[in-house]
Amino acid sequence: MSVIDFNNNKFQFKKKHKFSPAVSFLIDLFFPKHCLVCGKEKTFLCQDCFSLIEINSFRYCLCQKPQRAAIQGKCPSCRNRALTGLYFACIFGQKALKKAVHSFKYPPYLKDLAWPLAYLIILHFEILGKKIDPSSVLIPVPLFLSKEKERGFNQSKEIADILAKAWQIKIISGCLTKIKKTANQAEMGKEQRSKNLEGAFRFTDKMKKEIKGKKIYLIDDVYTTGATMEECAKILKQSGAREVWGIAVAREIMI
Ligand SMILES: [Zn+2]
Ligand SMILES: [Zn+2]
Repeated sequence: MSVIDFNNNKFQFKKKHKFSPAVSFLIDLFFPKHCLVCGKEKTFLCQDCFSLIEINSFRYCLCQKPQRAAIQGKCPSCRNRALTGLYFACIFGQKALKKAVHSFKYPPYLKDLAWPLAYLIILHFEILGKKIDPSSVLIPVPLFLSKEKERGFNQSKEIADILAKAWQIKIISGCLTKIKKTANQAEMGKEQRSKNLEGAFRFTDKMKKEIKGKKIYLIDDVYTTGATMEECAKILKQSGAREVWGIAVAREIMI
């Protein structure tokens, strides 16, 4: 198991930009951290509440009613999906996880929560005993620019950056872009979602050589119907990727 202290943003390596002790003191004074679940001070998610989040110990197929799948491969009914397969660290329903994801993506936009969320993915891969192919490439699911500006960051990129350092593999961000503003998908069914996303993503032509013949890991925070990842996987395959695997912190089970 890896040694981690994500509450100090340390994880076998040091974060590049650290505040001086005086600035950190002022930040803590005016914006005190409290655990989202139990209220404990000096952290957004304490180690105890983090440890209550159940990590998935299997890999499942992409189907609506998830069935356990071999490390490679999909069930016959998912054979035509562009997405090669999916890894998800947790089931979305859990209270601590739901709170963490919500406070990360919506106000107060706690960017530091990328650390425990990325660590759930790392633990999931350790539990599966799955090694990351060092020649593979990480690509975060992009946001439409105005959405990213509103949030101040792209949550998938924040998670992907941590994974890239932890796994020591290449990350390519900014080449897969969302070029169409799409309606909020929360209330939509599967068919509507994929229609909504048609033509929404693009991969930069001159970067196609970077993914040609490669195995791609596409990173997102929550996998719901999979319409977003499927559309991204289509574009990445059309742009030359050999395999596109999805990796999500959590999966919403739709049954
Ligand atoms: Zn707590
Ligand atoms: Zn399936």
